[in-house]
Amino acid sequence: MSILVLLFWFPLVYIYLINTISLVQSDFVFNRCDNSLNYTVNSTYQTNLYATLSTLPTANSGLGFFNFSIGEGNNTVHSIALCRGDVGIEACGSCLSDSIVNLQKLCPNQKEAVISYEICLLQYSNNALLEYPQTKDYFFQFNLEIASDINEFNAALRPLMDELIGTAAAGGPLLKFAAGNRIVPVYTRIYAFVQCSPYLTEQQCSECLEDEISQIVHHDNGKIGGKIILPTCNFRFEVYPFLNESNVPTPTPPPGKDTKKKTRNIVILIVVTIIVVIVIASLYVFMRLRKKSKQTSPPLFTRVDQSETIDIGSPESLRYNFSTIKDATNDFSKEIGVGGFGPVYWGKLGDGREVAVKRLSEDSGQGELEFKNEVLLVAKLQHNNLVRLLGFSIEESERLLIYEYLPNASLDKFLFEPTKRASLDWEKRYNIINGVAKGLLYLHEDSRLKIIHRDLKASNVLLDAEMNAKIADFGIAKLFKPEETHGNTSRIVGTYGYMAPEYVMCGQFSTKSDVFSFGVLVLEMVTGQKRQLFRNGENIEDLLSFAWNSWNNGKGSDMIDPVLKTGSSSLHNIIRSIHVGLLCVQENVIDRPTMAMVILMLNSLSITLPVPSEPASFRQTNINPERLLLQEYTSSTEVVILETLIYQ
Ligand code: ATP
Repeated sequence: MSILVLLFWFPLVYIYLINTISLVQSDFVFNRCDNSLNYTVNSTYQTNLYATLSTLPTANSGLGFFNFSIGEGNNTVHSIALCRGDVGIEACGSCLSDSIVNLQKLCPNQKEAVISYEICLLQYSNNALLEYPQTKDYFFQFNLEIASDINEFNAALRPLMDELIGTAAAGGPLLKFAAGNRIVPVYTRIYAFVQCSPYLTEQQCSECLEDEISQIVHHDNGKIGGKIILPTCNFRFEVYPFLNESNVPTPTPPPGKDTKKKTRNIVILIVVTIIVVIVIASLYVFMRLRKKSKQTSPPLFTRVDQSETIDIGSPESLRYNFSTIKDATNDFSKEIGVGGFGPVYWGKLGDGREVAVKRLSEDSGQGELEFKNEVLLVAKLQHNNLVRLLGFSIEESERLLIYEYLPNASLDKFLFEPTKRASLDWEKRYNIINGVAKGLLYLHEDSRLKIIHRDLKASNVLLDAEMNAKIADFGIAKLFKPEETHGNTSRIVGTYGYMAPEYVMCGQFSTKSDVFSFGVLVLEMVTGQKRQLFRNGENIEDLLSFAWNSWNNGKGSDMIDPVLKTGSSSLHNIIRSIHVGLLCVQENVIDRPTMAMVILMLNSLSITLPVPSEPASFRQTNINPERLLLQEYTSSTEVVILETLIYQ
């Protein structure tokens, strides 16, 4: 009973089991959901919360502080995150992702919530968060062991904390963090850090930390280790090293009062200036070298505390002047296509590279989020079967995306045009199917970010000069952490015909909804016809129903595009592709294979494939099958969807 009391009542107790320096993420340290204000499923607040949390990781103000808000009035969602000052950008990002995933699980419908891990803290609320002071809901955690001589211990701890508070508070607008240690009898040394949210003023930071540290005296005097956390400031001290010492930054010290301090400041200023000059010079040399090698990797970022450079994934280095692109496209004179987000133009850059420039429509009303997603995601993704984003341009309301130019344009322009279709023999089609499968597998499993495309279709598969497939259009992709397997969206984005039924009906998407779209594409490749304009003699049928019936009646070969020359080896291969396609479009999400399985099944003829179950199929009445859905999934749009699609 007493153990339970200790565990559940203030102050929380912990026992030191691990005495090593580790930045590996384990469980969170504390979490709080404000149960007084809830939001409802599919509400604007929920939509804004998703948008906020998916954008927050990109809103790094500099050194591990993230701040992003979205929405209006009562539906505004504010979010902030702060990583411990000694933590590298990668560990910080991974901690932030964990926090985002877990906080939504822990507080599924609360408007305000906070979670803290050992190395990062995430908070969201419908109230402004960059405020000081805030409600002081301290989180305490102390070692149970009491110093043998409390006065002696405090005589070392207090001056250490005072020094760190002064240093952190004066740290500047990007980072208010300080760490240090001091000799203490019996335990050798005390190690500590203090940190404030960097938006606090110097005085607010000191005040916040002073207040927290005074809590030690009130509640846990003499404990040999502990931490107190508030979203605005926090500290920890231990009798063993627990920080990543090599990363501990050296913030600007507080202004000195005597000559000795002034001299030290001058020395530091000179050293910092020299370091900054060296860093800028190195960056300049590096940028020149990079320009020469024509690579477009994300920019480099130098932390003040580290000599190493870190990728923060900002797309800034990919930015082109609007006038450069205007010139390259000859004032947007050669249109090569029009998509849901606006027209696409051919262009040629000064270095001779041909480009496809997507000019986002000013009146699309939904472009900005997609634009940001696309820039941030696509710039990081590099795979033979993905279209490469070379850069972007923003000027006033103009937003451009600059892609590598694929001379054979999109697959639909071959597959669904009678004259060109004949040039797509099975070998080419099979190569395209495999390329798309590999590109999707990369998105789902192999890229650093787990990505669900959500709009895979023939017009989003582009073809290079050798007719290799490259998946395009990540503007509506959804970013996932690897542990996450599925999501729920309040915004249905995609194209009828390729969309999995659970996505159309309930807004649920997962890698398996991409697998469904892939299955539709495979069946279209075999038949050479669009899913919802599939012509069987005089009748227009649904491709999936037709494929299922043909398969069940042992007449799978009926659906093969007549222009394909069906030699015995390719026939076997085509039938197997139909089989794989049918497995991908099965109604039950769990029954659909993963993309890894798809690739295995397509390429290893020795594997026995499972028997497919009936595909998910919906008969449409009165809709444009190519219509891009980009609408808020409110109850009224739900009615529209249900009215126009009769789900069988
Ligand atoms: P939606 O936006 O509705 O999904 P979409 O995928 O056809 O439709 P876009 O990605 O804007 O829309 O492309 C429009 C057309 O422009 C494509 O169908 C393709 O023919 C052409 N296109 C797009 N990107 C390129 C590229 N990188 N190289 C060559 N042609 C391209």
